Amino acid sequence: MVIQVKNVNKSFKQEDGDILHVLDNINLDIKDREFICLLGPSGCGKTTLLRIIAGLDEPDSGEVNDSAGLIKGPSRDRGFIFQQYSLFPWMTVLDNVVFGLNMCYPDKKEENLESAKRYLQRVGLEDFQNSYPYQLSGGMKQRVAIIRSLLNHTPVQLMDEPFSALDMQTRHTLQEQLIGVWKRFDTTIVFVTHDVDEAVFLADKVVVMDKNPGRVKDIVSIDLERPRKRESTEFLKIQE
Ligand code: ADP
Repeated sequence: MVIQVKNVNKSFKQEDGDILHVLDNINLDIKDREFICLLGPSGCGKTTLLRIIAGLDEPDSGEVNDSAGLIKGPSRDRGFIFQQYSLFPWMTVLDNVVFGLNMCYPDKKEENLESAKRYLQRVGLEDFQNSYPYQLSGGMKQRVAIIRSLLNHTPVQLMDEPFSALDMQTRHTLQEQLIGVWKRFDTTIVFVTHDVDEAVFLADKVVVMDKNPGRVKDIVSIDLERPRKRESTEFLKIQE
């Protein structure tokens, strides 16, 4: 088990003074190398749960443990990829990727440069390694952010709707590339989305969340050996 979420509750005070119970007794086990999607309508508490797993926020009650024990704050073991790309605007694409690697592996600067170039090539960005983030499309920026995070060998990657601002074609390309790179790295991914098709295409396990209050309604395991086909969402739709 990489992460265990136990009896987690979270409420927020709203502007009108009401208390909104956003997470209601959430229990969730996340295993090593699993690709989990948190799926549910907007406002059901997906981001809140992801932030608590990341250690960016604390539950009101309950706890989250990783292999090192109770999660009390952010850690380099858990990378976070937001909907808005968090690249350094003053660095080239290559420097953005190498920067994280050099932080993790300061003694291997040459190898870091080579692996950054190799992975940028694998996701079709070899011609953009000397470009700056503002010169890239949204899909390209998100590709760089994912490569940067995965190359650091962060054991757990937390992704909050990273593709939702992108057009359909780009989303599909990035979903396929994400599966490709995830398979090459020994990493666990928790991916938030409100899109059923995206969840079923990507995940081994889909955690379906309910709104008012945010609860886990269902956990659907998907056959790991399945061909990842875009038509394969029917069985989940039946359960909606
Ligand atoms: P989702 O990611 O599923 O769209 P969120 O976790 O972002 O849902 O939000 C769940 C609910 O909690 C929403 O109604 C949101 O407005 C509310 N909420 C989230 N964070 C805060 C906060 N810091 N203060 C007050 N309300 C919040």
